[in-house]
Amino acid sequence: MSEICMHCGKSVSFGSGNFVNRVPNCDNYEDRLEMNVEYPEGEYSCANCERKYYEEHPQFECLDCGYIDYIESGISDNKCGLCKGVNWRKLDNEFV
Ligand SMILES: [Zn+2]
Ligand SMILES: [Zn+2]
Repeated sequence: MSEICMHCGKSVSFGSGNFVNRVPNCDNYEDRLEMNVEYPEGEYSCANCERKYYEEHPQFECLDCGYIDYIESGISDNKCGLCKGVNWRKLDNEFV
């Protein structure tokens, strides 16, 4: 167990100040290597990096096909990348 943030390398162990809001990452080491995170040995995200990640990668849900994707591939010209539907919404999350 590496109790550090995989993005910034800060400790998220008990007593670090980042313990309460840490977010466990369910990928394994190889997946995180592929994701190109700074500290693939870290098994958590700190709250700060998690918030930043969601700001940079907003998620959208298509109400027509129910497909959930990131804006880069999911929504183009305000249309769902899959069904071209325009009834999509931005997903809220607890960090925004
Ligand atoms: Zn962090
Ligand atoms: Zn759709």
